[in-house]
Amino acid sequence: MLIRVLGSAAGGGFPQWNCGCPNCRGVREGTLPAVTRSQECVAISADGRGWFLLNASPEIRQQIEAFPPLHPRDRRHSPIQGVLLTNGDLDHCLGLLSLRESHPLLVYATERVRVGFIERNVFYRTLERFPGQVTWRILKPGRREELVGVDGRESGLVAEALPVPGKPPVHLEGLMRPDPEDNVGVRIRDEATGGTLAYMSAVGALTDSVRQALDGADCVFFDGTFWSSDELRALGLGEKLAEDMAHLPVGGPTGSARQLAKLGAARKIYIHLNNTNPLLREDSPERASVTTAGWEIAHDGMEITL
Ligand SMILES: [Zn+2]
Repeated sequence: MLIRVLGSAAGGGFPQWNCGCPNCRGVREGTLPAVTRSQECVAISADGRGWFLLNASPEIRQQIEAFPPLHPRDRRHSPIQGVLLTNGDLDHCLGLLSLRESHPLLVYATERVRVGFIERNVFYRTLERFPGQVTWRILKPGRREELVGVDGRESGLVAEALPVPGKPPVHLEGLMRPDPEDNVGVRIRDEATGGTLAYMSAVGALTDSVRQALDGADCVFFDGTFWSSDELRALGLGEKLAEDMAHLPVGGPTGSARQLAKLGAARKIYIHLNNTNPLLREDSPERASVTTAGWEIAHDGMEITL
């Protein structure tokens, strides 16, 4: 399995348009040992020809252009065979609406995420220009799903969604009651090589289901949104704690780095980094503490072969 990180930041990206925090200022001014990052989106492929996207970020157009294997090979063509959505957050779904140029799309998502995206959404009509423009395939937690491309061919990849503590997207809060299928992690196995990817970019807590999804994976992408629970508060950027936004912090005695210290994966990578996170600074003690423990920090353009 080929894995290419197209975007590695949390919603807002790095730097964020309206943020003057020390990280965002430093990376704009070139005074911080850090690289800019676009919003989370990862491309995977078994054969290097047909690709599936994990989430569809608002920056999808630039992300596709920055990675030649995703360029069209005919006058009207795309190597993108499908898109998997792990939740309904706008920074994971908005990119779908940018793929509106009368192109058939195949989307894998839980029923909750599908309903949350299409219901009462007048913009969705832009993806209904012709019958069958979008095909949805429902990811049922715990059920293994052979990933079939929009061209009808089997991809050689099998996906399994697992419920992960999360929450409904901000724009649906108060409209939809929280549900275990609001947020999932996915395990994806390459049937030819046996390589297994566990992808969990939003994790509210380490439950048995999360541990089960991580178990035995060769490569793990994990929620690296916040280093600490009160990161936004400490910088005067808001009152919400990481946990209020359903993100388990990386640092501290109850953080994911400590809790997952025994994780056996050959590659373990933090992704979905918020622009305030000290892990973005290449010389930070926080970064040194997790890299010493075997973690990597995702960056745009990162490539992995499983
Ligand atoms: Zn910032």
